Amino acid sequence: MNIGTKLILSFLLVTFLPTILLAFLTTTIISSSMKDDAQQTLNSDLKAAWLLYYSRAYQMQYGMLQASTEFYIKNAVKNRDTEFLRGQLKAWKKYRPHVDLWAVVDDKAAAIASNNTEAYGFQVSINGLVEKAIGKKESFISTEIIPGEVLSEAALEDEARIAIADEAGDVSRGALRDGMFLTVVTPVTDESGEVLGAIITGDLLNNDTYVPDTFADTIPGTLLSISLKNVQISTNVFSEPGVRTFGHLVPPGVLKAISEKKAFRGEIEIARKRYITAFDPIRNHRGEIIGSLSVGIPKERFVELEYENIKAIVSIALIGLLLATGVASFITYLITRPIRVLTRKAHLVSAGNLDIGPGLPTEGNDEISDLAKAFDIMVKNLREHGATLSTQKNLIESIINSLPYCLYVLDTDLNIVVWNRHSSDVCPICRSSTGTEFYGVNFIRHLPDIELKDGIEDVIRGVFQSREPRSIERKATLKDPEPRDVVLRTTIFPILSGEKGVDYVVWMSEDITKKKAMEASVLSSEKLSAIGQLAAGMAHEVNNPLGGILNCLYNLKNKRLTEERKDEYLLFMEDGLKRVQNIVRQLLDFSQQHPPELALADINGMIEGLVPLFLHSVKSMKDRGVRLVKDLGEGLPPILVDKHQIEQVLVNLLLNAIQAVEGEGEGAIEISTRFEGSRFMIKVSDNGAGIPPENLPRIFDPFFTTKGVGKGTGLGLSVSRGIIERHGGRIEVESSGGRGTVFKVYLPVTPENV
Ligand code: ADP
Repeated sequence: MNIGTKLILSFLLVTFLPTILLAFLTTTIISSSMKDDAQQTLNSDLKAAWLLYYSRAYQMQYGMLQASTEFYIKNAVKNRDTEFLRGQLKAWKKYRPHVDLWAVVDDKAAAIASNNTEAYGFQVSINGLVEKAIGKKESFISTEIIPGEVLSEAALEDEARIAIADEAGDVSRGALRDGMFLTVVTPVTDESGEVLGAIITGDLLNNDTYVPDTFADTIPGTLLSISLKNVQISTNVFSEPGVRTFGHLVPPGVLKAISEKKAFRGEIEIARKRYITAFDPIRNHRGEIIGSLSVGIPKERFVELEYENIKAIVSIALIGLLLATGVASFITYLITRPIRVLTRKAHLVSAGNLDIGPGLPTEGNDEISDLAKAFDIMVKNLREHGATLSTQKNLIESIINSLPYCLYVLDTDLNIVVWNRHSSDVCPICRSSTGTEFYGVNFIRHLPDIELKDGIEDVIRGVFQSREPRSIERKATLKDPEPRDVVLRTTIFPILSGEKGVDYVVWMSEDITKKKAMEASVLSSEKLSAIGQLAAGMAHEVNNPLGGILNCLYNLKNKRLTEERKDEYLLFMEDGLKRVQNIVRQLLDFSQQHPPELALADINGMIEGLVPLFLHSVKSMKDRGVRLVKDLGEGLPPILVDKHQIEQVLVNLLLNAIQAVEGEGEGAIEISTRFEGSRFMIKVSDNGAGIPPENLPRIFDPFFTTKGVGKGTGLGLSVSRGIIERHGGRIEVESSGGRGTVFKVYLPVTPENV
């Protein structure tokens, strides 16, 4: 899911939830307040219905109260003048046609006259209401039920009759014969207040339409019904046009509520329609519930209203949501547009294209513009670094391509990663020519099929594993362009990258065929010259004493020599032969090069023992101020050496030093010992004539000497170097003409030879 969708969804979630909640709450509140409104409307409608219900009764009461005060009425009642009263009732009926029951009774409630029957003298009780009014001398209004048989006597049977119908309008359940009357009983009294009788009026409510229709006229659309017990006797509800729901039954639940709770408020179905209704009980003068008065508002009126309200709320909510979606989309576009631009440019950079063009969203000072600015700087830096890198890369490539070697860098699969593109100029085995691409080619397959190839894979893998460089020199016979033998020297070394191991190795090979040939010729000529030098030196050294001896022998043949002279010649011959012997011995030492017989020896002690032997010669020079100084390191432990051989080295060095300071004015010779790191160092220095630079490379050559005949054999330093090297050590010299000479002998000191 991209960031834009996420943002829009979050926006919608934030607006959607409260909107839905608000819509739900509003509809709930509206619907509950509408229910309250409906109840209040019903309550007030019911009050109005009651007023209307009693309006005719009040009229009747008002009229009869007035009549009861009339003298002639009082007289007629007193005299029980049936004729007069009957005439009177008829006259009244003209003006009050809706009064269905009209009678005048005497003080014993016996009928004097009636508008409904010719008969008189019968008792009129109306459930005791007449006796009550007479007894209390008060006019009473009451709703009373008059049984059907009484009504038939009063010729009101047909008027009162109502067929009882069920919901479906089935009237087979019989008929209601009793009548419900709104009755007014008004006592007639004489001047002294004594009751003479009473006037009874009754308005039959069965099949009556006055109250419901007047009510419907006053409050249009509102139902009003009057029921006798559970049978509807007066109503403005129509089951079909022109057919009122007379005789329909009040639902048992409502009836039960009226009898128990004395009222009912709620929804019921009347003539297949839902109504919100209010039922009040109708009581007779004894307080007994004899029926009900109800009003009702069609539910659809509220449902429609509620539906309209909900529709309005939902529409508002939807419009809000649409607006929120629009705003969210716009804000999301504003936020994500620079991000999309940045992403596109970042993809360009990641694909290696640093030319990202204009349009970076660097305007403004929010986080995204900060990011864009940083990105811009990063790309600029990358461009600069890229330029430097490419310069460096070109330089490195040029260096590699200019190397006078055949060079390859191989990865762990022995594939070629880098190579000297000019290898073919310097290597006869390379089949590359400039421009040939070997990147990724397997090196072993790339090698031509010559001796060099044998086992080379193992050698390269060995370098990867051991991380040690390997050097091999191999002869190979090339076939191309013409058969010839070559010598190739190849070095394979690892490119070490920290502790991770070796990821690459470098293969460097060189055609050393010519070099080898030259070396061989140089070696043979050097050997020849060395042998010549050696022979010449030897000849020279041996020839001199031999010449002297030969001369002595010639002289000894002369018989005239004195004995004294003979001895002199013999001594001279002995001295000459000793010199020859000395030369031969040194030559033997040089040629045999015995391995040292190592034993622990105290070098300082050896020096202390040797120095006195030289003091004699030094003494003779003391007059010229020559000194021999020792500076021996203290506490130096004995080391493993061939004592005899090291003594020989020391003698050679000291003799050379003494000879160097001879005739040089104030001479100084110093012998010192030290530990230098893990090596034992013996230093012999003098301030003699020094060694000229041109002689320095030659002083260790056998028979090289600058000393006169009989003074030097030229073998001392050559023998000494042999000894020291066989000890695993080194001998070094520092000298420049006229500035003295320093010889340093380093002997290894390991735990084994200490
Ligand atoms: P020799 O002493 O018999 O000449 P060496 O091999 O001992 O042979 O020395 C070779 C040469 O090195 C000497 O002839 C001399 O020229 C030079 N040389 C050696 N030691 C010294 C020194 N301490 N000062 C100057 N020259 C020296």
